Amino acid sequence: MAWKWNISAACRVLALVAAVAALPLLQAIADVASPDIVCFNGKVVTLDSSPGVVSAVAISGGRFVAVGSDKEVLALAGPRTRKLDLKRRMVLPGLIEAHGHPDAAAVSELEGEIPDIGSIPALLAWVEKEAKSKPKGAWIIHPKMFPTRLAEMRQPTLSELDRVAPDHPVFLNGSYGGVINSAAMKASGITAATDDAGISKDSKGQPNGIISYTAFPLLNHERSKPLPFREQALALAALLDRYHSVGFTGVTIGSVRPEDIRLFQYMRQSGLLKMRLFLNILVDFSIEGQSLDEISRKVAALGYSTGFGDEWIRIGALKTSLDGGILTGTAYMREPWGTRAQEIFGIDDPSYRGLSKLSTDELTRFVEAGAERGWKMTAHATGGAATDQLLEAFERVNQAVPLAPLRCSVIHGNFFTPDCIARMKNLGVIADVQPAWFYKDADAMLAIIGPERIKSFNAYRSLIRAGVVVSAGSDHMVKLDDMTAVNPYNPWLAIYAMVTRKTERGSVICPEEALTREEALRCYTINSAFASFEEKTKGSIKVGKLADLVVIDRDYLECPAADIRKIRSVLTVVGGEVVYSALPDVPASE
Ligand SMILES: [Zn+2]
Repeated sequence: MAWKWNISAACRVLALVAAVAALPLLQAIADVASPDIVCFNGKVVTLDSSPGVVSAVAISGGRFVAVGSDKEVLALAGPRTRKLDLKRRMVLPGLIEAHGHPDAAAVSELEGEIPDIGSIPALLAWVEKEAKSKPKGAWIIHPKMFPTRLAEMRQPTLSELDRVAPDHPVFLNGSYGGVINSAAMKASGITAATDDAGISKDSKGQPNGIISYTAFPLLNHERSKPLPFREQALALAALLDRYHSVGFTGVTIGSVRPEDIRLFQYMRQSGLLKMRLFLNILVDFSIEGQSLDEISRKVAALGYSTGFGDEWIRIGALKTSLDGGILTGTAYMREPWGTRAQEIFGIDDPSYRGLSKLSTDELTRFVEAGAERGWKMTAHATGGAATDQLLEAFERVNQAVPLAPLRCSVIHGNFFTPDCIARMKNLGVIADVQPAWFYKDADAMLAIIGPERIKSFNAYRSLIRAGVVVSAGSDHMVKLDDMTAVNPYNPWLAIYAMVTRKTERGSVICPEEALTREEALRCYTINSAFASFEEKTKGSIKVGKLADLVVIDRDYLECPAADIRKIRSVLTVVGGEVVYSALPDVPASE
């Protein structure tokens, strides 16, 4: 039989109906037997064992109560059942973004759109325009600018920036590194005498404008003040509506400080939350130089651990950050970054491998303190050496506290060599990957690290072949638009890149690492649900699971590969509620 009733869901509905004593008995019984919604005449990809594709689902009490053929499911419909003809459209389990920062991105364009800049002339033109519109001395800041994403694949030079903005301090922030001009140095008191490893200098010992994140605190610009709480919540709700429009029903928020959990709780209480959230908690205490006892005491003081919460807001992993980023040459690599990176990022030391913030001993103490309290442990690790460091810490702790049940992860990782993949498999560590980075940056990485080292870059097929669970996300940080945001959070762009290994610049890089369409879809659904310990309630379409689904505008499994990135959601449903609709006859709920 292709479908079966979910008894507990039916019982809950029965209890509700029985409570409405005013209804005649026969009517109440009819309501119990009929689902809230029946979606039929579709092509429903369940991602469940069998059958893999059906035509109809029934939803009651926010869960799937039947999954099967039109005949089987339509037979359950009663007079009050809402019937939705899918007109042969494809239905997938609701997509889950495995790593994004929509909370930060939501407020990033409140004061104006952040320009999407693709070349040095466009960048200089933007700086010049800003300089003309701002009083002398006012800072010009771009919050996310990466040299690898400019056509020329280089940073603007100090003289280029000084020419267009002689009297305005300029700061092009690349998260882990950036560029400043002479006016910014003057305003911040940075000179040849400034002794900070984050200030890069030329052969004459003069600052050349390139800085790494350790020098960011030296910059004397005004820090943006936090918005009033309700404004933050409204901005985030609006961005999460955009997430719904591309098919997301759940998001892992990449970094949440403990004091910010209340933002999500506020959204829940005020009816603004229609997205299921898994909140990675970023440690807000220092690990450096701390003893295990001290770190353990601070972890215990948090008062909760992974899994606390419910199907809407759940506490995620305990996270720290290990290194910088691949787009600014600050990722901690296994080998020196190399000569091309020296040109692009302005690195002057040929043996430079990037930056690591913690020693392996410190990291081990952090992992141990969290693991012994039941936390899923994770870290931002973008370079291969940072990933190896994290795996080393995991292996040490695993001797005393088995880590596989905690489903620990490597966030980003990027460079997955056979050795590293084998270690991840042994530890049950999940790869939390960002395929849009591959799409945007694989060409630059190939130019920088060469054809041999690129083989491990986002090696999806090797990971999956070895049995490592791969969950996929965007690392969306700023801007609102799904395609021009940094980073683009449109899952269809990411899935296109996973399936084709094609890049924005039109290359195909390491096609042997491509995934099948079903595997790529799993990275955005059931694998992300597994990563948050929710594979029994989310990530596939199955009787008893939460009724989270997306209806798309073309056949994902059969359409030409080039069309995958053009896929759009026409209907997104979370817990049986329509949260996004492009169908005129199916309004989204308010
Ligand atoms: Zn992130």
